[in-house]
Amino acid sequence: MKIAIIGLGSVGSAVATAVVNTGLAHEVVLFDRDGVRARAAAEDLGHAATFSYDVKISAVSNYRGIRGCEMVIIAAGANQKPGQTRTDLLRANADVISDIVPRVMANVDQKTVKLIIVTNPLDVMVMLAQKLSKLPASRVIGTGTMLDSARLRTILARQLSVSPQSINAYVLGEHGDSSMINWSSACIGGVDLNSFCKQTKNSLTQTTRNTIEHRVHNAAYEIIRGRGATWDGIAGAVADLVRCIANDENRILTVSTVDGVGNKSLAMSLPRIVGRGGVIATLIPKMLAPESAALRKSGKIIRKNFDSI
Ligand code: NAD
Repeated sequence: MKIAIIGLGSVGSAVATAVVNTGLAHEVVLFDRDGVRARAAAEDLGHAATFSYDVKISAVSNYRGIRGCEMVIIAAGANQKPGQTRTDLLRANADVISDIVPRVMANVDQKTVKLIIVTNPLDVMVMLAQKLSKLPASRVIGTGTMLDSARLRTILARQLSVSPQSINAYVLGEHGDSSMINWSSACIGGVDLNSFCKQTKNSLTQTTRNTIEHRVHNAAYEIIRGRGATWDGIAGAVADLVRCIANDENRILTVSTVDGVGNKSLAMSLPRIVGRGGVIATLIPKMLAPESAALRKSGKIIRKNFDSI
């Protein structure tokens, strides 16, 4: 499989490493508007790959180089600076997506290509990429709240002394400040959270849940304060998504893709079945009324941001 990565900053570089390390690509091509950066990344990654997989890695100087790619990962654009929200990137990154997507579409097989969107504000960029590409919504996939859900599972795993791999708990809605935790559908080993806590003599009071929600919302801000940007978590999420698609795993991931039509259409994260064809089905989990209200509010924020560009 040939995979393209557009944008080789902190995120794109980490994504490239993680994608090569899946061992699923025979060829990875890198494009950045800064050609020197893309060539340097290809060199460095090529050296690293001699210790892992036999992958052809190259920088391309124009979009003709992405011909034959089954997946195109877009990680280009401005990132958050300390104190900035993802929404602050809206206008600058709408221009970046508007520059990239038509060039990508002129060079890929429109019947099969999957676009994977990483650029923030994620959900709005998914909507824009889907509109510009005219691809079926199922093949324009944003990493959405995969990362937020991973952050939630990591915190819960530490709190409850159980592996994050055994936790089914999702952050839904916007990949941003209005995301919400769907506590009602969370379970561990098929046991709902309250029952799990009772059986294992743990407790998750409302105050603890509020603290966890705050930590999930603030995780990116704290990482950006500490190291200037975030890249490892998102690289793990993209590699997992690539694996799920390439292996046709039909796993449930909280990716963002456009649902609905016309001015009712909206991209946000929900639990979705993902396989070779992209998003295969969307699930609506059990929710209490305040959770449904929080999800609706999140959707309205995404729609309003999209309408503003
Ligand atoms: P960065 O500034 O380190 O790198 C951005 C790269 O994009 C640069 O190399 C730049 O040259 C390139 N670029 C900009 N415009 C381009 C264009 N039109 N064509 C080709 N290349 C272009 O930023 P970063 O830290 O790598 O972040 C990249 C994006 O990923 C940001 O929008 C950031 O917010 C987002 N991000 C998303 C998640 C997520 O969970 N979805 C997580 C972390 C970061």
